[in-house]
Amino acid sequence: MERNTASVGLVSLGCSKNRVDSERLLGMLVSYGFTVVNEPSRADVLIVNTCGFIDSAKEDSIVNVLEMAQYKRDGRCKCLVVTGCLSQRYPDELRAELPEVDVFTGVSAAGYDELAKKLARMFDLNGNAGCGGRLLTTPPFRAYLRIADGCDNCCTYCAIPLIRGGRKSVPMERLLDEARSLADGGVTELTVIAQDTTSYGMDLYGKPMICELLKALARIEKLKWIRLLYTYPNTVDEALIDTIVSEEKLLNYIDMPIQHIDSDMLKRMNRHGTREHIEHIVEYIRRAAPDFILRTTAIVGFPGETEAQFAELLEFFKRHNFDRLGAFTYSQEDGTPAAEYEGQVCDEEKRRRYDALYTMQQEISMRRNAARVGGTERVLVELITDDTLYCRSYAEAPEIDGFIIVERGDRDVKEGDYMDVRLTAAREYDMIGVPI
Ligand code: SF4
Repeated sequence: MERNTASVGLVSLGCSKNRVDSERLLGMLVSYGFTVVNEPSRADVLIVNTCGFIDSAKEDSIVNVLEMAQYKRDGRCKCLVVTGCLSQRYPDELRAELPEVDVFTGVSAAGYDELAKKLARMFDLNGNAGCGGRLLTTPPFRAYLRIADGCDNCCTYCAIPLIRGGRKSVPMERLLDEARSLADGGVTELTVIAQDTTSYGMDLYGKPMICELLKALARIEKLKWIRLLYTYPNTVDEALIDTIVSEEKLLNYIDMPIQHIDSDMLKRMNRHGTREHIEHIVEYIRRAAPDFILRTTAIVGFPGETEAQFAELLEFFKRHNFDRLGAFTYSQEDGTPAAEYEGQVCDEEKRRRYDALYTMQQEISMRRNAARVGGTERVLVELITDDTLYCRSYAEAPEIDGFIIVERGDRDVKEGDYMDVRLTAAREYDMIGVPI
């Protein structure tokens, strides 16, 4: 009996955590019998996995939905689906404003299972009933491992707890199975993510288990690199740093969003942890491994932020020289406590503070990169175009940091290969290297 087929196209917006949802959904749909297409004009089903974190992301999501809706009018698309954080956060509003959308679903795993079943029924597909693994949308040699979903920290500016609820850690055995199957599928670089990775396990095991998880991941033979992102400052401790520094596969790299450093600002943001603790951890890291890469993010223009408090933030970054810094202007998100706060800072002033921090960090980043020149580093070949290899070392996280740019010459190398390079020049965000 000839099996029915249907094609699906998916636009995955927002963060890497949302991308994991997209990959799980695509895996289920493929196992039902769908084929995945990259051109929306060839898709029977179009799915937009939205982001609803801040205003600019919400606008971008709507623009993408309206763009895909075109293919329902002019193309072969028979079903337009909207999933993810925006439809989780505003289901009724979106239904009213976007009549061209056939199906809305939120962020729950059960919702995704239900959606895959519904689409399979709609196209009369009955493959292996949705038991496929993730269909990676990253290059085959790297993947994200989402170890928990949701967050209990309730920062006063953040809508995530409103969208994804409280922290739900994934049982360690399931994570290790997932990591092993990713490694068997060719993944060598694993990036560990969640809204707050360092409180992993608190809800399941009654205590943080991130060190135990990282050590267990490092024992998976086929994995070469394991990187930890989205840590929460006050649960970053010496034991975690010692674990990372002592395990070769655990990269000397940490993403630790601090958002601010002034004690009053941290309190108004409901950020747990103190300036003293953050400074202690930064200094501990610098002593433990001078080549350790420190990434962070900061919010400028939070309601009530005075010029003096902003100056304190600048002075802190000037003194501690983070390798990577993502700066954001405060976004007044409805439903969050901070949106109602007095002392909202005007856009022009937010912009001025953002530019000041950004410009200062450019100099720091350049200086930190220049200090690496002359050194040799193991790199992963991320992308090859014509005669150029775009590589990353332990110091460059995928999709958020720069590259080590290497001339290919006549080298027989392919994406996903590892090789050694000597760093010959520095730029603000990229490095230049030659193979050795
Ligand atoms: S730690 Fe704060 S900013 Fe991050 S997801 Fe949780 S509530 Fe949001």
